[in-house]
Amino acid sequence: MKIPQNTEYRVQLASRQRIVVKVGSSSLLHEQTQRLDYHKIDTLARELTDLKNQGKDVILVSSGAAAAGREALGINLDVYHQESPMNIKQACAAVGQARLIMIYQKFFEDYNQLAAQVLMSRATVSNEQSFRNLQNTFEELLHLQVIPIVNENDSVATAEFSVGDNDNLSAMVAAAVHADLLILLSDVEGLYSDDPRVNSNASFIEYVPELSHEYESMGRETTGSGAGTGGMSTKLHAARIAVDSGCDMVIAGSRNGMHVIHRIMCGENIGTLFRADKKADFRLSDYTAGAD
Ligand code: GLU
Repeated sequence: MKIPQNTEYRVQLASRQRIVVKVGSSSLLHEQTQRLDYHKIDTLARELTDLKNQGKDVILVSSGAAAAGREALGINLDVYHQESPMNIKQACAAVGQARLIMIYQKFFEDYNQLAAQVLMSRATVSNEQSFRNLQNTFEELLHLQVIPIVNENDSVATAEFSVGDNDNLSAMVAAAVHADLLILLSDVEGLYSDDPRVNSNASFIEYVPELSHEYESMGRETTGSGAGTGGMSTKLHAARIAVDSGCDMVIAGSRNGMHVIHRIMCGENIGTLFRADKKADFRLSDYTAGAD
């Protein structure tokens, strides 16, 4: 089979029907103050509702619970990272998740769009029964024209139950619902051949037609911001799950606003596009063991 060129393939994204959008904590916060950026959250709700209005199924995977809780409880970012024991982090997530959903509900309501909360953990995916329950819930919500808003159940998922990052979580969701496009939005613009902050000769990769080991080795553990947890290596692991399950994936930066979703859907050459390459024997459980 002839592998399509980047531009040729990009225009096909407009026809994708089931779309999972993942936003990292850094995409929802003002960089300087680390407080919630309501303008971005509002635009995100509008963009996703517009995709729904085009007749597409949409799922949002949103980080930001811990960040919103930390903000509400007045805990400084450095103190949070350096000194907070697990129970404080989980309390932040519990306070913040409720707050985050309240904010999303408000904005989605402005656009007359119903939204729902789905919290999950690694155990949801590894247990056959709860995985089926999850799939059924998603199917019903999508059938009812609702936008599910997914996050890890951080206040109960510790260590072995924790996926740990929403990049992998969003790819698991995409595979579970047989999505055909996953958009990962964060403070990184896409994949580079090397870490551009360290190597000025690093080149930007616009298109990954086949996810070979050469690309996978370009992953770095770092994340650009202090708010998120996913670096490039988690994004590449997510890409592996997505493309093998038959789902295209785009990594793009949302620094300049959530309109980037519309531009990606219009086929603009933004971020890094990983082409879906479905494995006939794909089983999500084969991929989830090393997901943290
Ligand atoms: N689940 C975490 C939160 O909502 C974020 C994990 C991540 O940033 O990938 O705060």
